[in-house]
Formats: sequence, C-alpha cells, structure tokens
Amino acid sequence: MNLVILGAPGSGKGTQAARIAEQGKIQHVSTGDLLRDAVAKQSPIGKQVESIMAAGKLVSDGIVLQLIRETLTDSDERGKWNGWILDGYPRNLSQAEALEGVLKDVGETVEGVVYIELDPDVIVERLSNRRTCASCKAVYHLVSKPPAVEGKCDSCGGELYLRDDDKPETIRKRLEVYDNETLPILGLYEKRYRVHRVDGSKPIDDVTTDITRLISL
Ligand SMILES: [Zn+2]
Repeated sequence: MNLVILGAPGSGKGTQAARIAEQGKIQHVSTGDLLRDAVAKQSPIGKQVESIMAAGKLVSDGIVLQLIRETLTDSDERGKWNGWILDGYPRNLSQAEALEGVLKDVGETVEGVVYIELDPDVIVERLSNRRTCASCKAVYHLVSKPPAVEGKCDSCGGELYLRDDDKPETIRKRLEVYDNETLPILGLYEKRYRVHRVDGSKPIDDVTTDITRLISL
C-alpha cells in the first residue's frame, strides 16, 4: 500500500505515519529523516544538503524529490516493504504535481491518502503545553505528560522551556501557512485518489486504529 499522509503541524501526523508503517511493514518515508540520513551518510547530495542547511537556507524541492526518487527506486529496500507512506511531502500544490511526475517516472502510484483533521484551537492547546528539556531535549506535556517536579526534566534534571516553535503566536502562523499552502493539495487528491479523513482529536491509539481500519491494513 502506497500512502501519503497529510495533517497540520501538531496533528500527530509523524507519530501516526510511524505506527502505520510499523504495523503494515510499510516504509516510512519522512522527508525530514531523508535529509538527516543523507547528511549522516555524507552522500554527494548529503554534502550539498549539509552546506545548504549550514547557510540557514531551505533545501530545494529538487533535492527533496531526488531523495524520494532514490528511496523509491532502491530495489533492496523495496523488497523489504509492503509499500511506502510519504510523510512531510508534498507541502504545496506545485510539490504535489512534481511528485506525480516522479512517481510516474519510477512506475509508482499513490493508493490512498490519509488526512488527519484537527481543530486549530486544539492544536494550539496541544503544542503550547509542550515543554522541552534544555539539556537532553526530552519532551513533556503539561496536561498529558507532566514532569514529576515542575519545570525540571525527569531524566536529567535539566530546565524545561517553551520552544519558540511551540508558542501560540508561532503556531497560529504555521497553521495559516498550512491552510494556505498545504490544504489545497487535498482538493487535488480528492479528485484523483481515495482520501481517508481521520478525527485527530481522539487519543493516539484510537487514531491509529481508525486509520488502520480505513485503509484496511
Ligand atoms: Zn532532560
């Protein structure tokens, strides 16, 4: 099963993609991981990515697509998995169209789209309650996973803080970008593929169960 997973920042998209991948023996193709792996391996593209990121610039669509192409045409990998789930790409309509081109090229096709729906206010509430350890980067949640001692990391005693990315005003901005840039992809996918909408406000396990049922994993 070849899937694309879509959802706003804070919707639990990455977590769900990883779970679905594990349950269905599907390859989790996360663009963030692809970039990190390429840098770690110091492949020619990896070295390019490293210098782009070191300069504080954004990695181009072309590079990300190249990494996706390499992943989907790695026959050793293909043999190990029952398909793939694409997480973190596409993020806008032009990327979606470019992806179609690559898939056609490599003889692959999207077989289903999972869309995790979640109210923006719930996302803001979820993310703004996150606290990150300044030393070991462990992540806590003031409501669902509070530290034993307020403001201190359970595992290393480090100071917990609110990341800039998790501040309500930053989240609202990221959600706005998501609505304007990423959400239009849904319209395109609804015309071409089967889009499975999932209620992301449920507990994590229930969301996973809903997705596996919808895609009949
Ligand atoms: Zn810590």
